[in-house]
Amino acid sequence: MLEVRNVDAGYGSTVILQDVSLRVEEGEVVTIVGANGAGKTTTLRTVSGLVTPKTGGVFFEGEEISKLQPHDVVDRGITLIPEGRQLFPDMSVRENLLMGAHRRDARGVRSETLEEVLGLFPRLGERLDQHASSLSGGEQQMVAIARGMMARPRLLMFDEPSLGLAPIIVEQVFDVISKVAASGMTVLIVEQNVWHTLKAADRGYVLENGEMVLDDAADALIENDHVRQAYLGI
Ligand code: ATP
Repeated sequence: MLEVRNVDAGYGSTVILQDVSLRVEEGEVVTIVGANGAGKTTTLRTVSGLVTPKTGGVFFEGEEISKLQPHDVVDRGITLIPEGRQLFPDMSVRENLLMGAHRRDARGVRSETLEEVLGLFPRLGERLDQHASSLSGGEQQMVAIARGMMARPRLLMFDEPSLGLAPIIVEQVFDVISKVAASGMTVLIVEQNVWHTLKAADRGYVLENGEMVLDDAADALIENDHVRQAYLGI
């Protein structure tokens, strides 16, 4: 479904990603793990059309999307749930969710989608009229995920969904991501929380200093000596 092929990318003359390749097949949950500054966010920004590759390309369902504007990438069905959630704090939960349905294919069916999404996030149904800023950090992350689903994406990308959340809330967020995946959604997650994300994923890539150094089935990565020493502290 998604293929990043031999991409070099960065900001201005600074090259961050070097010869990065990855694939996500329909229905898979794939993760990119790596330390702070490894280039994980830059990889998602490249898929989203926010960063243009210097060489190589990004392909979605066979079409090259690397030269498209970000809104055209969204229209193709790729939605990014950004790091730090970026909700509209003074708008209600309902308004935040409806803002997610701006994509062409989602606009006409937003009431139906809202019903479906609230089925996955029953707690949000009780808080629809509350300001987003009055929710806890975990609830805000649920709104960010639910808002992403309101676009009816074909591929949902998460940038560090566990960032800044207490351990018990991290568990809940990954439970929700697993539910989203079980609903048939194709998912790409970047994370520093290597244990939880590998537990939730089918396959994973390890990104270090802008280069992919390992890729394997998620359960094989959990057993990999380098991953255990560098990321799992085992
Ligand atoms: P983190 O977990 O800290 O977000 P990351 O793996 O997602 O890390 P990136 O955010 O992709 O890493 O950053 C990779 C490198 O690119 C870092 O050295 C960062 O300083 C640099 N960088 C990120 N955004 C910009 C920018 N807008 N301009 C210049 N350099 C940037």
